[in-house]
Amino acid sequence: MIIDIPSQVNKALEILSAAGFEAYVVGGAVRDALMGRPVNDWDITTSALPQETEKLFEDYRVIETGIKHGTVTVIIDGEHIEITTFRIDGDYSDNRRPDSVEFTREVTLDLSRRDFTCNAIAYSPLKGFVDPFGGIEDINNKIVRCVGEADRRFNEDGLRILRALRFSLTLGFTLDSETAAAIHRNRGLLANISSERIVSELCKMLPFADAEFLDEYSDVIFEIIPELKAEKGCAQNHERHIYDVWYHSCKAAEYSPPDAEIRLAMLLHDIGKPSCKSTDENGVDHFYSHAHAGAGITRGIMNRLKVSNRMKNRVIALVEYHGFMPEQFSDKTMRKYIGTLGTEIMEDLFAVREADIRAQNPAFAEEALGQNEAGRKRYEEIISRENCFGIKDLAINGADLIAMGIPEGTVLGRILNTLFDDVISDRIPNEKTALAERAKELYNNGNS
Ligand code: ATP
Ligand code: MG
Repeated sequence: MIIDIPSQVNKALEILSAAGFEAYVVGGAVRDALMGRPVNDWDITTSALPQETEKLFEDYRVIETGIKHGTVTVIIDGEHIEITTFRIDGDYSDNRRPDSVEFTREVTLDLSRRDFTCNAIAYSPLKGFVDPFGGIEDINNKIVRCVGEADRRFNEDGLRILRALRFSLTLGFTLDSETAAAIHRNRGLLANISSERIVSELCKMLPFADAEFLDEYSDVIFEIIPELKAEKGCAQNHERHIYDVWYHSCKAAEYSPPDAEIRLAMLLHDIGKPSCKSTDENGVDHFYSHAHAGAGITRGIMNRLKVSNRMKNRVIALVEYHGFMPEQFSDKTMRKYIGTLGTEIMEDLFAVREADIRAQNPAFAEEALGQNEAGRKRYEEIISRENCFGIKDLAINGADLIAMGIPEGTVLGRILNTLFDDVISDRIPNEKTALAERAKELYNNGNS
């Protein structure tokens, strides 16, 4: 078995071995190449010390990417190749990063610090595979397994808990039973991991996660989002539902498009339900105003997880409006929604509602999906027909009104609001002359 290595990477391997050093491609590149998947980054591991590598690649552009940890990047014919010295990690007192790293001339020692057997294989055209932990066999059997003792490896670096789940999902591997058990046992270590890294792993895995997986690792998810815990066992005694709030949310995430933010929103969409639950005299459960309550809880979660503003606003909006029924909107209301939420969120919301419906009692699905499609159709009609969804879309603006002699201030603001309301209620067309006329009338009547 050989691996087809790009010429630039081969060149780097040759330069290192010609100088008497050992050099291999390693990690994700070997794993992905063995699986016949496209390789993103070709990383090289070598016995050469960083200074030795820098010297050998003098004629190329070299970046000291992580010189302290032994990594330099060389650029050969436009290809960025990370070359890292064989190293052993020191103690991990913070459950995340080694206190120190020590360089070594032994490739096996370098492989032993790596997280999973499938990521701990080295390969060179000269020496073939170095696979001391049975990585090739685990790849063939599609298994994610820690290198060495799982508890110890997760204790060194808690992020590996999420990396294990992510690799299992993205590669389609099962988790070795001991590795899986250690994930459950050590989930508390996620408290030591920065939110940025947690969110980044979460976003990589969610597009691949189905309900069964989300439920199996609910304890890990609750470690990151404890607010979700109350959903588990929160019954929904209602003809529309067949699952508790938690499993319904897992199903809704599974049924939504493979977009991490939409899936996170689905996982959170009913997070307001436990606190809004009431049971009527017939024993039927209701969850009045849960979407609004949920949006508030979601805001707190997004702030804690330090997600980007864009992601935060999108997830909150999808939770807040997940229950909207645009097929029942008047044209005016539809235009207001489009103006407030924007077309991207509007379109997401149809996908959200579809996933929500499919995660409910299938007896009602056909009818409800039909209603959703009717709403989508009406939305699309309005988008193709109309052009005014907000004050900024009016054919007249504040400067125009000021030029007409209306003073800047609250009156002008109110006039613009009235003009917008007139336009979306189809009382006047969105045309400059008609709007100017109407503005004058409003101003003169003091009736703005
Ligand atoms: P991806 O396709 O996500 O890039 P990858 O396997 O290349 O997968 P990287 O995060 O790029 O993953 O890391 C490169 C290699 O470094 C891994 O294959 C693994 O051998 C090692 N590694 C990375 N992060 C860790 C970690 N937290 N603990 C131990 N080894 C790690
Ligand atoms: Mg990589």
